[in-house]
Amino acid sequence: MSEVAQNLKMVSAEIENSKLKRKIAIDEPITLVAVTKNHGADLMREAIDWGINDVGENRIQEAAEKFSILNREVKKHLIGHLQTNKVKQAVKLFDLIHSVDSEHLATAIDKAASSAEKIQDILIQVNLAKEDSKSGVYKENLKNLIEKVDELKNLRLRGLMMIAPNYSDVEKCRPLFAEMRKIFDEIKVNRQNFDFLSMGMTNDYRIAIEEGANVVRIGTAIFGARNYF
Ligand SMILES: *Cc1c(COP(=O)(O)O)cnc(C)c1O
Repeated sequence: MSEVAQNLKMVSAEIENSKLKRKIAIDEPITLVAVTKNHGADLMREAIDWGINDVGENRIQEAAEKFSILNREVKKHLIGHLQTNKVKQAVKLFDLIHSVDSEHLATAIDKAASSAEKIQDILIQVNLAKEDSKSGVYKENLKNLIEKVDELKNLRLRGLMMIAPNYSDVEKCRPLFAEMRKIFDEIKVNRQNFDFLSMGMTNDYRIAIEEGANVVRIGTAIFGARNYF
């Protein structure tokens, strides 16, 4: 078995294990997004051949190049910050955009989706810890942004995304994940198609799932350390 296959087996087992540790039993599937940024199309293909149905990329140009030679069906997630000048390409390439955090960006995506005759699935990224270094809408402004998104006919809001702070003690993320699940559940009550709570990466996905994540975005634990070129 290849290293990627072994890692996938381990991560899948950890996901199931963390699901069992949830205090509130929520009966929902957990989507594993394999984050392939900074790795080649060959590794992406390998993960897909070992059962991965979802891949995540954070740069448009890099993703476009890899998808063009991938030769596999897979659900494509944009997990990184999106600039308005790249929106047209993003709408062409991705099934789910995780990083919508402003009315300006939402409007641009809607316009591009309309031209492409597509309904674009999106998540709104929340900057729960209010870190300057991160994108995302503050929770106080979330309701307002949702109202704006609801007015845009070519967007379909599928859920929320959060990137936890990089605390040296990962347990410090737990209350943030729990708060996100609470916010997610409150919004979900009145909505259809609002299914995804994307939070949890290599360092913190176990805790994220215990606290209610149902989409995790994992790179390093599957593919090893990234080479930056
Ligand atoms: C890179 C990245 C990940 C994956 O990070 P790992 O620590 O390698 O699992 C997840 N989410 C986002 C938004 C990322 O940019």
